[in-house]
Amino acid sequence: MTNIGLLGGTFNPIHMGHLTLAQNFLAQLSLDEVVLIPDKSPVHKPELDLAPGEDRLTMCEIAAAGAPGITVDDVELRRKEKSYTVLTLEDYRRRHPQAQLYFLMGTDMFLTLEGWHQYERLFQLAVMCVGARDSGEETLILDALKRYRQYYPIRAEVLRAPPFPVSSTQLRERLRRGETTEGLLPPGVKEYIERRGLYGTK
Ligand code: ATP
Repeated sequence: MTNIGLLGGTFNPIHMGHLTLAQNFLAQLSLDEVVLIPDKSPVHKPELDLAPGEDRLTMCEIAAAGAPGITVDDVELRRKEKSYTVLTLEDYRRRHPQAQLYFLMGTDMFLTLEGWHQYERLFQLAVMCVGARDSGEETLILDALKRYRQYYPIRAEVLRAPPFPVSSTQLRERLRRGETTEGLLPPGVKEYIERRGLYGTK
């Protein structure tokens, strides 16, 4: 059976926390691939300083080029109507009827799942895979999982690997201030940001 991991995000910009989450789940669950799916515009958080979709997509492609097993899909950027995760999962189910789908996310996303559009359908379509973003989040994750399981037959996997605590917000701040981002961005992404003058690097 094909096992496909999906990691949705704003990727503004993509960073090593995203890539590490994807690579660790790729290994832990023996996935055939993890697909990075950049959002058109975030439904969950109105964002200032959002780089154009084309740039966020290109940064994901640069990151994926150096990471075996990681691919990129622009399905959400191409969608005309409002973009919801559940639509993307339905789309994958149609395109890969035999595949097992895994939806990857960090703790913040996992804790808000009940607020997501058609979350019960989401739970049917994919295994929810959560990785801590920082140390000490294990209890939060397990408590939320216990709560969900009281109401829904949720299938879930928790990452067994150390977290890589970094966020796009921190990176945008660092880039704007001209501070080092060494080791925090996938190879080639910093150069692209500077070439395009994103996040105040002009
Ligand atoms: P921002 O700081 O702009 O809110 P972000 O760093 O949270 O951005 P997103 O693109 O919103 O990045 O995240 C996409 C997905 O990746 C989410 O499920 C999020 O929880 C997860 N994620 C982001 N950073 C990490 C990290 N360091 N470790 C594990 N998961 C992460």
